Amino acid sequence: MRVLLVEDDQPLGRGLKKGLEQNGFAVDWVQDGQAGLREGAQTQYGAIVLDLGLPQATGMTVLSGLRAQGVDTPVLILTAHDHLDSRVQGLDLGADDYMVKPIDIRELSARLRAAIRRGQGLAHSAFSIGQLTIDPAKREATWDGQGLDLTPREFDVLHVLALGKGRVLTRGQIEQQMTSWGQTIESNAVEVHIHHLRKKMPDLPLKTIRGVGYQLLDNHA
Ligand code: CA
Repeated sequence: MRVLLVEDDQPLGRGLKKGLEQNGFAVDWVQDGQAGLREGAQTQYGAIVLDLGLPQATGMTVLSGLRAQGVDTPVLILTAHDHLDSRVQGLDLGADDYMVKPIDIRELSARLRAAIRRGQGLAHSAFSIGQLTIDPAKREATWDGQGLDLTPREFDVLHVLALGKGRVLTRGQIEQQMTSWGQTIESNAVEVHIHHLRKKMPDLPLKTIRGVGYQLLDNHA
């Protein structure tokens, strides 16, 4: 899933970006509040990791600005140890979760996955759509109880489709969830991954909406 990281501290930002990527996230990293506000409103992220002490606009300003614009992306705030009041204020302003620095990357990853699931209205870690079961934490999927041998990108496409089940997703929306800045994705990459997914799951209820995109049907849930 694609997440936005808003953190001005260079070593910390670099470390968080790398660590989250190692845990399967695509990460866009911006380093001031204005950029956070702009990108958070412009792109539909799975979640936003937001530092509170930022140049140009504070994390609180970013958070309240996003919520005021109707952006309901889950936000996890990062607070310094001595700023417990700001944690409460952040939750009041519509943050979904918080972590106190120093940040343990595995815990942050787990909390982000939980926030993304809640954001998508899914209560459990692994979830099923008909015969398909997806476990985002393990990055594994099964069809009819049988483990699927998926590449990381195939898993990402399937995950995005599953989170958007019942809705028509354009190729651009799928790509947007998968990629971060600076990564180039070949123009037909999504089609190729979907072709492979269909080979691996011939009964996958995935509809191609010609000229528009794809829709994973939810008839059997
Ligand atoms: Ca900071």
